[in-house]
Amino acid sequence: MQLWADLHTHTVNSDGRGTIRENVEAAVQAGLKAVAITDHGPRGVGIGVKNLSVYRESGLEAARLEEELPVRVLVGAEANVTGTDGSLDIPAEVVDGLDLLVAGLHPFVRPDHGAEALSWLVPNQVARVSSFVRERLRAGNTKAMAEAVRKYPVDIVSHPNLMLAVDLDELARVCSRYDTAMEINTGHHYNKDDVARAAIRHGALISVNSDAHTPSGVGALSTGGALLQRMNVPPNQVINTRGDFPVGKFRRV
Ligand SMILES: [Zn+2]
Ligand SMILES: [Zn+2]
Repeated sequence: MQLWADLHTHTVNSDGRGTIRENVEAAVQAGLKAVAITDHGPRGVGIGVKNLSVYRESGLEAARLEEELPVRVLVGAEANVTGTDGSLDIPAEVVDGLDLLVAGLHPFVRPDHGAEALSWLVPNQVARVSSFVRERLRAGNTKAMAEAVRKYPVDIVSHPNLMLAVDLDELARVCSRYDTAMEINTGHHYNKDDVARAAIRHGALISVNSDAHTPSGVGALSTGGALLQRMNVPPNQVINTRGDFPVGKFRRV
């Protein structure tokens, strides 16, 4: 399976080590046709962008690099889901200027409202050490993620079931309805077979991404490719392989 795009990478603008240029040069080295810069939304504690203007500036840098190098450079964001109503930490007007939108659950996020810090986000941090609490929170996490997919033009749900548990079947059903891809994230260790199984069961799209935080990790997709092969996922279900996909505009209209 030819994975020609890596649609989830980070730079020094959030918690990555490389510049946009370094990630893009690494993508060329790795033989990719497209790479996305998807720095964390601002509410990720210690990992988010300092200012939302980063996304616009990244777009300008991407345009410059595309003129110089043989690769498409998409600028997106990995937004944090900040509440069980599915709200994201990237406002709609900023989302409109992005090439693609990745959204996911992360354990350390500044919530919108104080009450939610107690009812959802803080318990999720506790859930990292308590399997009992973890299971009880699954429903809230699933609702938060599903609502985000319903409300926003989310192209990719990042690393479902990593650290924060979700009901993969329920999420896959929603993703399938809204043409949102479920991610197989090669940069973290967790049960990715279950994610692929749920996507297959419900006909949801899949995206294989590195989530690289260093330039050397950009395009490291082979373990994801092997997983898809082992599970007989058809190439047209995987957005990084589809030759007919409009590179540069992954978003739905
Ligand atoms: Zn993430
Ligand atoms: Zn990420």
